[in-house]
Amino acid sequence: MDQSDVAGDLADILLTEEQLGSRLDEMAAQIDADYAGKDLLLVGVLKGAVMVMADLSRRLHHPVSMDWMAVSSYGSGTKSSGVVRILKDLDTDLSGRNVLIAEDIIDSGLTLSWLVQNLRSRGPESVEIATMLRKPDAAKVEVDVKYVGFDIPNEFVVGYGLDYAEKYRNLPFIGTLAPHVYA
Ligand code: 5GP
Ligand code: MG
Ligand code: MG
Repeated sequence: MDQSDVAGDLADILLTEEQLGSRLDEMAAQIDADYAGKDLLLVGVLKGAVMVMADLSRRLHHPVSMDWMAVSSYGSGTKSSGVVRILKDLDTDLSGRNVLIAEDIIDSGLTLSWLVQNLRSRGPESVEIATMLRKPDAAKVEVDVKYVGFDIPNEFVVGYGLDYAEKYRNLPFIGTLAPHVYA
């Protein structure tokens, strides 16, 4: 899927496929260096993180395991509340593992701060976060994010795993939607 397939739906392209790719190169190099000689389990949060997980993991030289979780955060409309339910749990026992959560975007950070606490309670060696995007509100919550792709403005974005009404996840770039799409 590319820009021409959704041309009328997009207001702007915020980050191109090339920009995402070169930032992922840098993040992967950093992660390789930081986890050298250590075990590493990548945990992806469905569904938004599928692109980051696939593209980041393929750039790592480090051998990793991968597992997935699905959570739903109760909230009104586009705002999450921090009340989280696990829809699909990990298959992996975390005791003694170095866990790196791969995320698409951190907005309020409420879902993620719940998730980090939840995973930390399972006896891992470490739990860190890598996110492709971060919005300004994330600063209000006490979540230490070790790897950030891009800090973006407080706008609703789609593509690269991120949806609006389950659409646009397979765009290879990050964009904003034209107002008529929401109407
Ligand atoms: P929060 O950090 O507020 O708890 O929630 C993060 C989740 O909200 C993300 O994983 C994503 O599903 C959704 N989200 C937050 N901001 C955006 C955005 O700009 N676009 C899209 N498509 N989803 C978003
Ligand atoms: Mg997510
Ligand atoms: Mg969504």
